[in-house]
Amino acid sequence: MVVDSPRTQIIGEQLQQEERSPNSFISRHIGPNTAQVQQMLDVLGLESLDELIAKTVPQSIRQKRLLELLPPLSESAALAQLKAIAAKNQVFRSFIGMGYYNCITPPVIQRNILENPGWYTAYTPYQPEISQGRLEALLNFQTTIIDLTGLEIANASLLDEATAAAEAMTMSYGISKNKAKAFFVSDDCHPQTIEVVQTRAKALGIEIIIGDRHKFNFEQPVFGVLLQYPASNGVIYDYRAFVEQAHQAGALVTVAADILSLTLLTPPGEFGADIAVGSTQRFGVPLGYGGPHAAYFATKEEYKRQVPGRIVGVSKDVSGKTALRLALQTREQHIRRDKATSNICTAQVLLAVMASMYAVYHGPQGLKQIAENIYLLTQVLATGLKQLGYSIISEQFFDTVGVELGKDNLVDILKAAQAREINLRVVNETTVGISLDETTTLQDVEDLLAIFAGDRNLPFAVEQLATELAGNNVPFLARSSSYLTHPVFNSYHSETELLRYIYRLQAKDLSLTTSMIPLGSCTMKLNATAEMMPVTWAEFGNIHPFAPRSQTKGYQILFAQLEQWLAEITGFAGVSLQPNAGSQGEYTGLLVIRQYHEQRGEGHRNVCLIPTSAHGTNPASAVMCGMKVVPVACDEQGNVDVNDLQAKAQKHSHELAALMVTYPSTHGVFEEQIKDICAIVHAQGGQVYMDGANMNAQVGLCRPGDFGADVCHLNLHKTFCIPHGGGGPGMGPIGVMSHLVPFLPGHSVVSIGDEQAIGAVAAAPWGSASILTISWMYIAMMGAMGLTEATKVAILNANYIAHKLNADYPVLYKGKTGLVAHECILDLRGLKKSAGIEVDDIAKRLMDYGFHAPTVSWPVAGTMMVEPTESESKAELDRFCEAMSSIRREIAEIEAGNADMKDNVLKNAPHTAEVLTADEWEHPYSRKQAAYPAPWTREHKFWAAVGRIDNAFGDRNFVCSCLPMEAYSS
Ligand SMILES: *Cc1c(COP(=O)(O)O)cnc(C)c1O
Repeated sequence: MVVDSPRTQIIGEQLQQEERSPNSFISRHIGPNTAQVQQMLDVLGLESLDELIAKTVPQSIRQKRLLELLPPLSESAALAQLKAIAAKNQVFRSFIGMGYYNCITPPVIQRNILENPGWYTAYTPYQPEISQGRLEALLNFQTTIIDLTGLEIANASLLDEATAAAEAMTMSYGISKNKAKAFFVSDDCHPQTIEVVQTRAKALGIEIIIGDRHKFNFEQPVFGVLLQYPASNGVIYDYRAFVEQAHQAGALVTVAADILSLTLLTPPGEFGADIAVGSTQRFGVPLGYGGPHAAYFATKEEYKRQVPGRIVGVSKDVSGKTALRLALQTREQHIRRDKATSNICTAQVLLAVMASMYAVYHGPQGLKQIAENIYLLTQVLATGLKQLGYSIISEQFFDTVGVELGKDNLVDILKAAQAREINLRVVNETTVGISLDETTTLQDVEDLLAIFAGDRNLPFAVEQLATELAGNNVPFLARSSSYLTHPVFNSYHSETELLRYIYRLQAKDLSLTTSMIPLGSCTMKLNATAEMMPVTWAEFGNIHPFAPRSQTKGYQILFAQLEQWLAEITGFAGVSLQPNAGSQGEYTGLLVIRQYHEQRGEGHRNVCLIPTSAHGTNPASAVMCGMKVVPVACDEQGNVDVNDLQAKAQKHSHELAALMVTYPSTHGVFEEQIKDICAIVHAQGGQVYMDGANMNAQVGLCRPGDFGADVCHLNLHKTFCIPHGGGGPGMGPIGVMSHLVPFLPGHSVVSIGDEQAIGAVAAAPWGSASILTISWMYIAMMGAMGLTEATKVAILNANYIAHKLNADYPVLYKGKTGLVAHECILDLRGLKKSAGIEVDDIAKRLMDYGFHAPTVSWPVAGTMMVEPTESESKAELDRFCEAMSSIRREIAEIEAGNADMKDNVLKNAPHTAEVLTADEWEHPYSRKQAAYPAPWTREHKFWAAVGRIDNAFGDRNFVCSCLPMEAYSS
């Protein structure tokens, strides 16, 4: 037996005495109780958790002390503490606009989607047969976008409007045939969009020309242009002539368009745009001080293979029934790696679902009425301002008025606004902007006018103005085409109908409310209710991202504490909370490294070493940073081949920028040589980027900053309890060593960041700020000991599964003591030869048992990667192992010749109720065997909504919007 250091033994003892009281949150979060932990250890032949850890985590990197965090709080105490922090935020009425608007989240959507684990705990719909609900909601989202933008195809969300614009730029760069290396950005785009596009362009060597569209004549060749519609200042411009000019010059046109305005205005697709991007935040998603919100991306069908992010497409199942799944998967970075054009992985599915339901609930007439009401109030405001003697910058507006003021006057106006707890947008020294929204009332307009009236009484009645203007509901460039004519947008306008529609879809989806989702690398752990509750508190939800910082003291405390805790957990000096997903953290971290080299006069360093086992986002992110990817081999144990690394690092010594390494490796083991690996890279002048997706195996046991990493991202939606939301939201903050702190992303709108900062990487300065509350709650309730215990149990659970399943399915990689880290890879490749069974057959058969498959065929083809997490109880682990073993016995029947090679329970899985209850049944096995293969399925049966889906059919017949109703009945 290996003896652990005395210090950890003390920690272990303290933990048992103080922390695992049965009523503590720690005991709610961690599945197995102390007795079950002991039973599992017994199965593994181990004395204690500490022995397990001593045998899995290399001694050389073990942390010798407890993390310095606050003592763990109970759920109620943590909620009370966060409530006190929230109370330090001041919720003013914001009329700032700039792409963010107050809106009303219909309560039926708030409670039944945003606050409903049936929706928020689902995974990305990679197993479409048990994901038809959210796939349908996302198809509705795409249809909404296609209809409103007037373009042909749309994806199922990007991270925010600014990054969507940056994606549009890189897509245009790839498509345009004119070979230009410059991109024109109209100076009346939202400033944060311009900044994010600039950051993205710089790394790729693309020149950004920011200027006045009227003065730009295309003499300098550009591959694309970006316009804002209506412009950031609120003005609706007629872009037709400019679009034509751009096309003549061989440039693609991207229009960043306000989604609600398109219910009234001519859509971009009708005036020639090639791409439309924007935010769907104002379709019922709270501001949340910046997010999360879903961005949209629409374009022409001819570019379908270049579209970033995921597209839901229509296909059919084995019975010919219409079925949905993610289309054109071969475009994505997990397949294309360094040939990928985008690194988007986690997007904003939950928020896209909310926006789509908002469209379903209101329908075309309801949306139009919301928009017309806003337009009317804006006209009242503009007319009132003029009657007060002010000049406004244009009469061609939808929801935003620019008011021209003298410098002194502006200061007075802002003071008066502040006195009324109202935020206006300061456009420049002499102009303010006022944006109205769905929540604005006539009283609000009166209050706004009172600000501008100063000491005077209003010389008119706003009601009177409203009555006079009420007929004027046709804005400049009015839309004539119809939209959202599909029955889905015209059927669920009563709350009862919508509620049932939401639950009908939810019932088709397997989420954590049904069973464990043991996805390797994705860490589908508990998303505790107490962690989720603060997300919808008004003090966090109703704050505009560009509200003055004096009003967001609560948020600043939250950020400072969370940054400090994450820095302590990872061993880094500084943290940026800006990146909105792991992929964005990778991109940001590599940009920081790039900037570091550049500042040292070594800007030529551009080689990024990436082990072949890496996640597809790694090479894709490196390419986005203008780096050249050099693959590093892995050895037979799944470790980085240190000799190959040494050779490649030496060979590229002069150009070496970075190594990207995942730890513990994607093969599920703690590499013994991680310190040496980091040292090799440093010796050649490179920096070490650690992909922190597997941080759940490290928290409290070792710290990337201590063993050689310079940068690391954390997937807060994996390790730190933000739910996956069916494919987003997420957060991917990065931690960096002190020499890299000056380069962390800035944000010009709110003036954060050092002089040497890399610029903004997301639209909002602190990314999806409102969901940071979830990770804050988690850390506050777990404390140092709880977090450490969670890591240990995560490793225990994985080893327990590996041990129990090893006889049925060999565990591919183990550490030198025969143990795995927090996940394990099951090798299924032999079954192809012995029984003609592929990984997919097992994945689909698991559905008949009521389980979601583990990660399939990654990082090794023909395998499954299982990550149980600490939150799953021993009972649930046993149930999963029993399902897997039972499936193995079913395979043995094929091997023995007792079951048919082609017509068997695996090949025909999943079995739907419809197929099982059909009059005909011609399979050589019984219906009972198909449907009720395990005792618990008789207790509670989760039915797959459709049978096995034909992916290829859908890609050959590409459709990404709602089919006409007849198509479903046939
Ligand atoms: C999940 C994951 C990523 C990507 O993170 P997103 O948040 O989905 O962008 C990168 N690397 C690894 C190893 C992962 O598991």
